[in-house]
Amino acid sequence: MSSRRIQIFDTTLRDGEQSPGIALQPEEKAEIAEQLERLGVDVIEAGFAAASPGDFEGVRAVAAVARRATVASLCRTRREDLDAGAEALRDARRSRLHIFLATSPIHMQKKLRLTPDEVVAQAAWAVAYAHALADEVEFSCEDATRSDPSFVARVCREAIAAGADVVNLPDTVGFALPNEYAAFFDEVRALCPELESVTLSAHCHDDLGLAVANSLAAVEAGVEQVECTVNGIGERAGNAALEEIVMALRVRHDQLGVDTGIDPAEIGASSALVGRLTGYEVPPNKAIVGANAFAHEAGIHQDGLLKDATTYQIIEPKELGLAMTLPLGKHSGRHAFARACADAGLQLDEELLAQAFMRFKALADSGQHVSLDALFVDVTAA
Ligand code: MN
Repeated sequence: MSSRRIQIFDTTLRDGEQSPGIALQPEEKAEIAEQLERLGVDVIEAGFAAASPGDFEGVRAVAAVARRATVASLCRTRREDLDAGAEALRDARRSRLHIFLATSPIHMQKKLRLTPDEVVAQAAWAVAYAHALADEVEFSCEDATRSDPSFVARVCREAIAAGADVVNLPDTVGFALPNEYAAFFDEVRALCPELESVTLSAHCHDDLGLAVANSLAAVEAGVEQVECTVNGIGERAGNAALEEIVMALRVRHDQLGVDTGIDPAEIGASSALVGRLTGYEVPPNKAIVGANAFAHEAGIHQDGLLKDATTYQIIEPKELGLAMTLPLGKHSGRHAFARACADAGLQLDEELLAQAFMRFKALADSGQHVSLDALFVDVTAA
């Protein structure tokens, strides 16, 4: 199958950091940015420079360490935001000002209190102003999925005419369904053929648990950039998880035919670093990077895995810098138990092994955590 390469725009340090309670220090942002570069992201959105002096310093710190990735700062359509963003990005090898302005009736009327004509004028002004200040300009139609597609097309046309290099149509509030989001891109593209000349981007939130599904639908609809975060952290229920998008594209390359620049071997380390510095621990059942993502307790599964790991694993965890585990519990079988005893250096004959397994099942069934060493002492003493 022929392949195309999409850009991974990582917003762990901006949208991810907007998660309640996270406040990364500039040196922490720099440390994560260095890891994101090892991971191979194309763009690092480092913060919102005008939001606070700390955020300004955070963007500056990332701009100073990034050697390969483009560094972006988020901006409203205000001169002070664009000036602050450009100043914070001054040391970046490649800089991007990311401007957003809402296009949905709800946001324009209730939040911005602007008419559609005023929104178009502000968008065009801000993109033109930013064009002289950074290497690249990205324009986002905030709340695009709750906007009128013909109005979104009009704003896109004006933003492109003013010099936008990237146009992002985000599902800001996590409202879209996958087929609907794909159709939305098709419709806006049909109404604004100028989008062919820029990089088209998707940005999804997980309010309905659909952020990754929507991102993949957008990729299938032809977008060239996907915005996401490590561990899926972000506003409210979070953003689309980078590791899930990347691994879905990898594992299902047969269907999707899309590559990224991500090195899977750095996924485990990236997840661990972001979890540690943000204080947002990864839930054990989280796809790809959860502690149990490659843990198998059920006996039938363990038996299959010991014969051939592909029976129950679609990803080789070693490729991600992670490991398969076969935790022993009430659902475990004799095969995995015998393997665990052997791995622990316990030399048991058939009879002792059978006794130990019965004892283990009884203890595990009662809900106790069973340590092999304790069990062995218990059995041999009996
Ligand atoms: Mn967002």
